[in-house]
Amino acid sequence: MFKRILIANRGEIAVRIMRSSREMGIETVAIYHEIDRTAQFVNYADYAYRIEGETPKDAYLDMTQIIEIAKISDAEAIHPGYGFLSERAEFAKAVTDAGLKFIGPSHTSIEMMGNKTRAREIMFNAGVPIVPGTKEKITDTDRAIEIATEIGYPILLKAAAGGGGKGMRKVYESSDLVPSLEAAKREAMKAFGDESVYIEKYIENPKHIEIQVLADEHGNYIHLGERDCSIQRRHQKVIEEATSTVLTPELREEMGKVAVEAAKACNYANAGTIEFLLDKNKNYYFLEMNTRLQVEHPVTELVTGINLVKEQIKIAYGEVLSYKQDDIKLNGHALECRIYAEDSFNGFLPDTGKISYYRQPAGYGVRVDSGVETGSEVTIHFDPMLAKLITFGRDRIEAINRMEMALRNYKIKGVRTIIPFLLAVMQHPEFRYGYFDTGFIEHSFDFESLNRMKNEHEEIVAAIATWGWKMTQNANLATDTQPKISKWKEKNLYMRRLV
Ligand code: ADP
Repeated sequence: MFKRILIANRGEIAVRIMRSSREMGIETVAIYHEIDRTAQFVNYADYAYRIEGETPKDAYLDMTQIIEIAKISDAEAIHPGYGFLSERAEFAKAVTDAGLKFIGPSHTSIEMMGNKTRAREIMFNAGVPIVPGTKEKITDTDRAIEIATEIGYPILLKAAAGGGGKGMRKVYESSDLVPSLEAAKREAMKAFGDESVYIEKYIENPKHIEIQVLADEHGNYIHLGERDCSIQRRHQKVIEEATSTVLTPELREEMGKVAVEAAKACNYANAGTIEFLLDKNKNYYFLEMNTRLQVEHPVTELVTGINLVKEQIKIAYGEVLSYKQDDIKLNGHALECRIYAEDSFNGFLPDTGKISYYRQPAGYGVRVDSGVETGSEVTIHFDPMLAKLITFGRDRIEAINRMEMALRNYKIKGVRTIIPFLLAVMQHPEFRYGYFDTGFIEHSFDFESLNRMKNEHEEIVAAIATWGWKMTQNANLATDTQPKISKWKEKNLYMRRLV
């Protein structure tokens, strides 16, 4: 096995990869920008090397520096985590060219799946159902009008180089198509440096269902079932779960087989995810393939009992998969909430600052993958996700109830987080019953209820302060205020649901 590996990432995922590496007896090398010098992942690593960059983010994207450090530190392999360089084919190639092992798929697989139109073409040829639309970028507006009319409005204009939920534009009628096309091209150019856009049919109220696959370098492929990632905000996942409430065992098996075919179509080796949209009639369509470890991988780990990072490392070392498809049994239910440093009560504005107090929940069935602790600085330089809270239960309701309890016990002071919002989702009847799709936050979630909860919370804080003050003024008042205490108690119960 490898003796030492470098983790080309930061935050919670760097810590998570280091944990599994250490368990396997592998030493870890961290790279960090000055701004992260006291971060948890830097302390956790066996060795840590500083990297430079014009901005902190640039430092983590500097392939040359990172590969140089891998060589200096005698690391044999590089794990890219997710984000940053994880889906850059040229990085995977440069790592391999430097005589190191890239813990991920080959650069050719990354390249094949990196461009959405190319990926659609490859999947179509492999017999994988794709969302109706074009398989090449739009160059001719007349042809675009024809295609849109053929598949029917509404349609979605998407950036071929898109990612992170960016670069999508919904078009409802033909008169909007041409101006939308121009705007979409401009947006795509600005966000990705590539103006190519293509057309997809807009699937109404779909579920986002993705299948985890594992493949070794010897041609063995398995799938580990699905994750339902339909709770999204601005097309970005917030809550994920395994398994999905809408998949029958038959459909799971069918989609699993299709996902394996999709992975084979790009000669995939290592862990990867095939994303699908599932419509109301249970038709599924390939959306894209993520050629890396996903943020939401822990829910799959909990229901399968398989440590995906360990598998990634073993595959990269050249080992044969130690599981066959028949060995994969899905057990219980797992939920993941992404803990973003954003203000739930103020349009999810990112918040920054020093974490003055941090206490994470624990207990049976509760897992926290976190990159922060008391004293950590949350800056504008990186993604605002601080941690992931994951719960496991014998069934979905147990996992939800456990999540509710864990969210209440999660104390983060100094920066605002979306914990109040996540709690409100856990209590939402449509979520609890499993009746939700990707439009849940937009259509079903009642932001007014969140604001009402906030106002009550503030009232309660004021009431407690007044009551406390009165108590110190006159001990006799204690009896007078008794009714208020019970009123407060009643409200306090409500408040505890909030924070
Ligand atoms: P990105 O790569 O930017 O994350 P994806 O293609 O993976 O974009 O899509 C992200 C999300 O956007 C999906 O999970 C879904 O909610 C929505 N979406 C994408 N394509 C469609 C479509 N054709 N119809 C309806 N919703 C879509």
